[in-house]
Amino acid sequence: MSDFLQHLMSSRAGRALLRRAGVPVPAPLVRHTPGGPAIPGPVLVGGTPKGRLGTAVKGVLADAGAEALTSLPEGGRPAALAFDATGLTGAGALAELYAFTHPVMRGLSPGGRVVVLGDVPGPKPADALAAQALEGFTRSLGKELRGGATCQLLQVGPGAEHLIGSPLRFLLSPRSAYVSGQVVRVEATTASSAPVRWEAPLSGSVAAVTGAARGIGAVVAEVLARDGATVVCLDLPSQEAGLARTAQRIGGTALPVDITAGDAPGRIRAHLRAEFGGVDVFVHNAGITRDRTLARMSPQEWDTVLDVNLGAVHRITATLLAEGQDGPVLRDGGALVCTSSIGGIAGNRGQTNYGASKAGLIGLVRAYAPLLAERSIRINAVAPGFIETDMTARMPLLVREAGRRMNSLGQGGLPVDVAETVAWLAAPATAGVSGQTIRVCGQSLLGA
Ligand code: NAD
Repeated sequence: MSDFLQHLMSSRAGRALLRRAGVPVPAPLVRHTPGGPAIPGPVLVGGTPKGRLGTAVKGVLADAGAEALTSLPEGGRPAALAFDATGLTGAGALAELYAFTHPVMRGLSPGGRVVVLGDVPGPKPADALAAQALEGFTRSLGKELRGGATCQLLQVGPGAEHLIGSPLRFLLSPRSAYVSGQVVRVEATTASSAPVRWEAPLSGSVAAVTGAARGIGAVVAEVLARDGATVVCLDLPSQEAGLARTAQRIGGTALPVDITAGDAPGRIRAHLRAEFGGVDVFVHNAGITRDRTLARMSPQEWDTVLDVNLGAVHRITATLLAEGQDGPVLRDGGALVCTSSIGGIAGNRGQTNYGASKAGLIGLVRAYAPLLAERSIRINAVAPGFIETDMTARMPLLVREAGRRMNSLGQGGLPVDVAETVAWLAAPATAGVSGQTIRVCGQSLLGA
């Protein structure tokens, strides 16, 4: 499970040894610590003359307590770059992006962040080509950056300028340590915006997490609790001991349930209603693999994976949203987060069942998003790449090592990286982000 290279790297002697042996040494990633700065250093801000986000970007940085620089002092090293590329028209205009980023690339701090803000590509060819070009730029730059730095594109729809705070803070912060090469879209919404307590954005809310006995789910539960939520932890009755440990550690409660059982959706709904009056955040995290090539796969291996990873998610979601006699148990303004996988985007040999189930989740969130917008409920998915858990520890050694290294950050992620992304998507401040799948994969080369 543990990454031997990372272990060696943690000492100076180990790092020297690896360098002498010519082994590429992945940079240690800086992750969020409670009480630490939201954005850990000055941000060099730029934009096109027609850009519409300059004021909003500066407002977000001021709110986060980060210094916004409009030019770099001699020898200065920014922690991040934020470039407002909205309003670009035609190929020539893209030179403005080059002119801003090129001179400062070598000076970006280790663990730095690059965020390009752009328009959502529209119907006008000259505008659309420029807006779409930003995607190729950011994905390519993500592959060039070193030292644990990341690069993303934030597409901002018309009328969504006031909603960039939560996405921009997340992408500039250590919370997004293992997220790179992503395109996040924020769009106008009817959700009312209340002042945000950034250190506890989920305070007062109730969250439920499936598969919370161990691995990613246990850490998701922990991070949601850290962010202020009261958390209900769900897992198989056979995992009751682990489930109780998670619940106890985070001051939450446990509900042992097999999510594929016929009565599971009804039991979950009844529990959340009876104990809390409803639920604000539901995280579908439980998932399994039964890997085998299709020719050798048994019907049971196909059925169980499809049912745990996709069928149960669909049934429970429908039940949480059902009107029933006393209205839906998922409250207005709430959030659903599904756990997809890079396997559902790129496909993996021996995983037709898993790949189908995880791709199905991407379709599910995309289709549900517009249906839930009226109630200001957001539904998104995270797609983890290689995350250090029991699931990946069971992989054959060579497959495991390849999975760890084949991404722009050259290492596996930690459960907390997925958990931070889930918590960000779950927060009401992330209004305007719905129907999307955010990869937490260090910009995996698979399916990129
Ligand atoms: P894990 O095997 O460590 O934990 C999964 C949890 O789900 C377990 O506690 C298990 O008991 C629970 N679970 C399984 N079937 C259940 C059922 N029928 N009812 C209730 N609970 C059930 O896995 P993990 O690595 O923590 O993965 C969590 C999620 O992330 C899964 O959906 C997985 O597909 C996804 N994912 C993981 C990785 C990775 O690298 N670890 C990569 C991509 C996606």
